Amino acid sequence: MKILIADDESVSRHMLQVLLVKWGYEVVSVEDGNAAWEKLKASDAPRMALLDWMMPGQNGVDVCRALRKLRPEPYTYLLLLTAKDAKESVVEGLESGADDYLTKPFNPAELKARIRVGLRLLDLEDNLVQAREAMRFKASHDTLTGVWNRGVILETLEREIWRSRREGSSLGVLIVDLDHFKAVNDTYGHLVGDTVLREVTRRMQTNIRSYDAVGRYGGEEFLILLPNCSASATWNKAELLRAALTREPIETQSGALKITMSIGGVATEDWPAKSANQILQMADLALYRAKEEGRNRTVMAGATEHEGALPTSLVMMFHSPQKE
Ligand code: GH3
Ligand code: MG
Ligand code: MG
Repeated sequence: MKILIADDESVSRHMLQVLLVKWGYEVVSVEDGNAAWEKLKASDAPRMALLDWMMPGQNGVDVCRALRKLRPEPYTYLLLLTAKDAKESVVEGLESGADDYLTKPFNPAELKARIRVGLRLLDLEDNLVQAREAMRFKASHDTLTGVWNRGVILETLEREIWRSRREGSSLGVLIVDLDHFKAVNDTYGHLVGDTVLREVTRRMQTNIRSYDAVGRYGGEEFLILLPNCSASATWNKAELLRAALTREPIETQSGALKITMSIGGVATEDWPAKSANQILQMADLALYRAKEEGRNRTVMAGATEHEGALPTSLVMMFHSPQKE
């Protein structure tokens, strides 16, 4: 545990340092409030500080105030050292954001005990933050696979559609569905099925860019969002993801299993005015066609999914013979 000492009186600073080192703490020691502020606002700042109230530059209370304003987390335990002991100054010190105070000259045993109180509070704080982060993760991620859950991936879809409209870019959307997955469960059991789902998502995640998103859309169906992907880039990505799955069988408790998936895709450049629901419907119909045509393939939403109209990219192809 690293503790910052800020005190302009060298005797008092030295004495504090000797005590803290003797008690097993790592010490960072500075001579005024400005230097204390520089140390405390750094990203690797000590989590506890003993600040003298009266110092040149910013005083201890100024530093407390500035730090509390700067960031709530990670929490820094601030202990003011003061020669003042009038009730008003104690109140002012605590209201500036200090957690505790000690009047000089202090009793070493009391200082030791108060540092321990601070450490206990930091511990509680860390546990709370961890619990909150775990809850946040649970609320947004699928428990089995760790990818975004249905709610989050659908919200992200809405957001990405708006962004693509604003920026005039194309969003690629894929619905992925494992082929004959029921048979995996029926033959090998649900645990093996779960292993397959986890490995399939792992392979998908390692083959997308950091700004793409994968979410669990249903049981063995996944939604993948590919910002800035044209229809052909979306198709290529889908085929790359399929190849990543079929290239090697999946190792399970019942041996290696060959798993394939079918993909329905849409790129918004073809259908810029469509809503999220319409886009999902089109991808779903394309997926249905991929299944009908024999599975283990990608089908992009086309005329059939759009009441007879041709997608813009196809129209463009017909009009520009040199296009690949
Ligand atoms: P198709 O090729 O037409 O998609 O056939 P399928 O068998 O994959 O499709 P179907 O929709 O009939 O079956 C999906 C199966 O996915 C049924 C269900 O038991 C299984 N499933 C859904 N969620 C989970 C899960 O979390 N774990 C496991 N092990 N299986 C799941
Ligand atoms: Mg399936
Ligand atoms: Mg399904």
